[in-house]
Amino acid sequence: EKVPLFKFLDRAAHKWPKRKAIIFKNWSITYAKLKVQSEIVAANLKAAGIRKGDRVALMLPNLPQTIIAMWGVLRAGAVGVMTNPLYMETEIVHQFNDAGVRFCITLDLLWPKLSKLRDQIPVEKFYVTTIGDGLRFPLNLLYKLQQKKSGSAPKVDYDAKAVLPFKDLTKGTDRFTEAKVDAEDTALLQYTGGTTGVAKGCILTHFNIGANVQQCHAMMHTLGKKRETFLGILPYFHIYGLTVCLVWPTSIGATLAPFPRYVPLDVLKGIDKLKPTVFPGAPSVYVSLLQQKDIDKYDLKSIEVCVSGSAPMPVEYMEQFEKRSGGASITEGYGLTEASPVTHFNPLEGVSKNGSIGLPFPDTDAKVVDMEVGGEPLPPGKRGELVIRGPQVMKGYYNRPDATADVLRNDWLYTGDIATMDEEGYFYIVDRKKDLIISGGYNIYPREIDEVLHAHPKIKEAVSVGIPHESRGEIVKAYVVAQEGEELSRSDVIGYCREKLANYKVPKKVEFRRDLPKTMVGKVLRRALREEEKAKLA
Ligand code: ATP
Repeated sequence: EKVPLFKFLDRAAHKWPKRKAIIFKNWSITYAKLKVQSEIVAANLKAAGIRKGDRVALMLPNLPQTIIAMWGVLRAGAVGVMTNPLYMETEIVHQFNDAGVRFCITLDLLWPKLSKLRDQIPVEKFYVTTIGDGLRFPLNLLYKLQQKKSGSAPKVDYDAKAVLPFKDLTKGTDRFTEAKVDAEDTALLQYTGGTTGVAKGCILTHFNIGANVQQCHAMMHTLGKKRETFLGILPYFHIYGLTVCLVWPTSIGATLAPFPRYVPLDVLKGIDKLKPTVFPGAPSVYVSLLQQKDIDKYDLKSIEVCVSGSAPMPVEYMEQFEKRSGGASITEGYGLTEASPVTHFNPLEGVSKNGSIGLPFPDTDAKVVDMEVGGEPLPPGKRGELVIRGPQVMKGYYNRPDATADVLRNDWLYTGDIATMDEEGYFYIVDRKKDLIISGGYNIYPREIDEVLHAHPKIKEAVSVGIPHESRGEIVKAYVVAQEGEELSRSDVIGYCREKLANYKVPKKVEFRRDLPKTMVGKVLRRALREEEKAKLA
């Protein structure tokens, strides 16, 4: 069904007007009021000069304001540019110029960083909000909280023209009710995670994301029969958080519980208090909760479903979490920004296979194709590139025809991930094409080595990458973080790998570290490690 995305909110408001749409600390808002508030934001954006197709950046952590602003932007027919609040200056300058951002909605805490960049970015107006404690409806109270803000919040140099309080978007009673937005219009310029290179802006239409929401619903239709509460830990600025923790739950009338910062102990307390039923996360999230000493003190039994994606979920942690939480099952899925994002999921009813990303979503075609010769489809069990076709696949990368032509070929999206499919049609991610190590003519999949290293009792975290080598092209280097209080030597690591891996896969070099470089969603930045190594050689 092709409708602008905000129709999902409007329907929820029609069906469940009195239900809580968002709870944040002791503040909440009903669906009926959220709809009205988003209409007011859209009207104010329009009055401030935003026209259809203009880009508005939302540089915010997970807050009620983020949700309200996003709906307002979409309703006004503008294009949302979700921006990671922890972006460094160069990343902000790149993204804002690449997307041509006119307005930016942000947080006072980020103001020192943004204000310095004003002459390097095309933003005409900033709207600045604050986290604030004890929010209450009406939302205009946010403004009062802003004035009362804690001593630590930085001073924002408001002016009447270009730096305005967020209240200016939520005040008044004018409502924007024209529906001039078409489902095929661009809803978001959504930047990729930047794990393998510079972040690219994916053109996602209202229909792309709406289709993914409906696919989530079809695949997980048992959710939403009663009122669900979704834990909002995954960042809404990432497409995984946006679709799975914000738009989809809204479409089923769930209550969103945003968390602006990920602090494991606060999350455990939050679960105990808020009693969420659905907990979308990523492997690093579940693993860090398991590492909390006091995890058993908190009641996690309300959680019925955990959805894990964005990186491979180690099976042993999956089982541990299920046990510790008192029954919450973790189901793994897979996706990428280019596909709004979800393309695969293990069914909630029926066979869920640990270690697999599951079956293609409804209405999604997926196959594994040969990486070298002509992209022929491969039979079950063979490794090749995962390619996907479906209504959730983006229109292309913004301003990058060459990169688009590389990944979108005859309606198929080339994911850059190496996968296999079993006889029953379940898919398994082997590795990323870009991480493949080619050493002395052998293809080596670093994930296989990482799994061996992870299983070592004294190793907390490990990652292997290919580093340049004169005669072999590349050799394997392992970066290892030892468990606290444990001693480990290079020969321990290599000796252990020798027992478990064919000789050509055994790391030739080992480096011990305190931690590993990671992206915002907790993916190890192999790229950064490779670059360090290259810099050493240069
Ligand atoms: P960039 O595309 O800029 O390099 P990125 O790949 O991190 O960054 P995202 O769109 O955030 O951008 O992430 C998608 C990628 O995440 C997939 O291509 C895949 O490599 C990985 N991924 C997602 N889910 C899983 C999963 N369940 N198991 C293994 N890998 C996964």
